[in-house]
Amino acid sequence: MGPLDELSGYFQKMPSIGARSAKRLAFFILSQPQNWVDGFMHSLQDVKKNVRYCSQCHNITLTDPCAICRDPGRDRTLLCVVADPRDQQAIEKIGYRGLYHILGGLISPLDSITPEILKIDDLAQKIKKQKFQEVFFAINPTVEGEATILYIADLLQDCAVKMTRIAYGLPTGANIDYADELTVSRAYEGRVVIN
Ligand SMILES: [Zn+2]
Repeated sequence: MGPLDELSGYFQKMPSIGARSAKRLAFFILSQPQNWVDGFMHSLQDVKKNVRYCSQCHNITLTDPCAICRDPGRDRTLLCVVADPRDQQAIEKIGYRGLYHILGGLISPLDSITPEILKIDDLAQKIKKQKFQEVFFAINPTVEGEATILYIADLLQDCAVKMTRIAYGLPTGANIDYADELTVSRAYEGRVVIN
């Protein structure tokens, strides 16, 4: 039926939602009371209208620059590079007090994620312009993670900046945002120099 199919179509565009799940969600919406649906619509609009990306670190934020980039208490000589905001939150939890740069994903040609659509150029400009003592890559040890770190290290090979990466404690294929704080903390303490 028209409107239900249309709603299913929207759900099907979402990550990990197939045709069957999309239909189930559409029927679920239909079964909800009006005030629930109104709240849901308001929430969608609120996210789109008020949540944005920080122009400096590319994290999600309600204000631009974000609270971390504006915080005068942060160590501006330290930069932590992460794939997405969830990894940033995992690093923040272990008490890291430097700045961040969120790439917006990892290089993955099979998924059409090329360096150009990530915030890699911007990272290179930032590192060349600002004098960081250390640029630390908190990137998952996966094929995509390795490819991304290698690409960036190559891009910055003429830069004198010290670059390190998570080493100890995180098994290959692991997810930073699923790891417990102690593991992430150890991985941070045991980071190794890549350039
Ligand atoms: Zn920021």
